[in-house]
Amino acid sequence: FIAGLESLKNLPCVSLDNCRIPLWVNTGLITDVMRSLDRGAEGVGLYRTEVPFMIRERFPSENEQQEIYRSQLEAFAPNPVTMRTLDIGGDKSLSYFPIKEDNPFLGWRGIRVTLDHPEIFLVQIRAMLKASAGLNNLRIMLPMISSVSEVDDALHLIHRAYGEVVNEGGNVVLPPIGVMIEVPAAVYQVSELARRVDFISIGSNDLTQYLLAVDRNNPRVAELYHSFHPAVLTALQAVVRDTHRVGKPVSICGEMAGDPVASLLLVAMGFDVLSMNATNLPKVKWLLRQISVSWAKELLQSVLKMDNPHLISSTIELALRKKG
Ligand code: PEP
Ligand code: MG
Repeated sequence: FIAGLESLKNLPCVSLDNCRIPLWVNTGLITDVMRSLDRGAEGVGLYRTEVPFMIRERFPSENEQQEIYRSQLEAFAPNPVTMRTLDIGGDKSLSYFPIKEDNPFLGWRGIRVTLDHPEIFLVQIRAMLKASAGLNNLRIMLPMISSVSEVDDALHLIHRAYGEVVNEGGNVVLPPIGVMIEVPAAVYQVSELARRVDFISIGSNDLTQYLLAVDRNNPRVAELYHSFHPAVLTALQAVVRDTHRVGKPVSICGEMAGDPVASLLLVAMGFDVLSMNATNLPKVKWLLRQISVSWAKELLQSVLKMDNPHLISSTIELALRKKG
C-alpha cells in the first residue's frame, strides 16, 4: 500500500471525470518542506510564518527573516508559496512577546496584533518581498480577518513596504494577496473581501471553532468539534459560491482538507486548491484519482439534507465502501 502511494508522487491529482485538483501543503519548518517535496506537493497553501518566530528567543531581524523565507521560496520555485503574515495570539505565543488575556481566542490575535504593530508587519513584508526577488512565486495571506477595514489597512502597509523595497533598488513584483476566512463575520463579507484581493483561503480549523463556539484544543468539548456539522458545510459552500461570483479563486488550508473523506465534499463544492499536511497528501490524492467529481457532487447534495454530523460522515464512508 505504501509502495502504491509512493508511486503516486509524480502523478497529477485528476478525477475520473478529468477534473484537475491541485494539492498543496501547509508548512512551518524547513523539514516540512523536504517532506512535502517528497510527496509531490504542487505548492504551499499555508506557510505558518509564526513557527520560525516561536523557536527563537527574540524577533528575527529583517535579514534573518529574508533568509528563512528565501529557503521556502527556493525549495518550491517555480511553484507558489503562500506566506501567512505573523499569526500569534490565541494558542500561539512568543516567549519574548507575552500576551496575557482571559479569553485569548477572542482577543488580540493574528492581523489584530500586526496592525497594532505596523513595525513588525512592515519588516515581515519587506523580508518576504526581498526574499522573492527573481523567483516571483510568493503569495501573501492575511490571518484572522474580521472586517473589511483590516484588509484595507493591511493592503496599505503592504503597498508601502513594496514601495520601500522598490526604492531601495529591489527587483520585486507585487505578489498576489489573499484573505483567510476564519471568523464567521468574514463568511458574510466574502464578496467585499474577495473584491479587494487576489484569492481567498478558508482556515477551517478556526472557522469551525468560531462557528460552533467550541475551543479547538479543549479535549472536554472535542466531541462537539465537527467539520461535518451542517453549519460548517453550509458556510464553506457559501464562501466558495461568493468568491467565485466575484471571479476569484478559493482554497482551503485547515486540517479538514487533509481528511480524504472530507476532501470529497470539498472537491464537490468547487474549491480550486486543497492545502494540507504533507502526511495526508498521498492518501487524498489516491482517493481523488478514483472518484468522479460529478459523483462527489451528488453525494454532497444528499449529505447537505442531513442534520447530524455523524450521519454525514458515516454516509460518505458507506458510499465510498460501496464503490470499493
Ligand atoms: C486554520 O485556522 O484553519 C488555519 C489553517 O490556521 P491555524 O491552524 O494556523 O490557526
Ligand atoms: Mg487559524
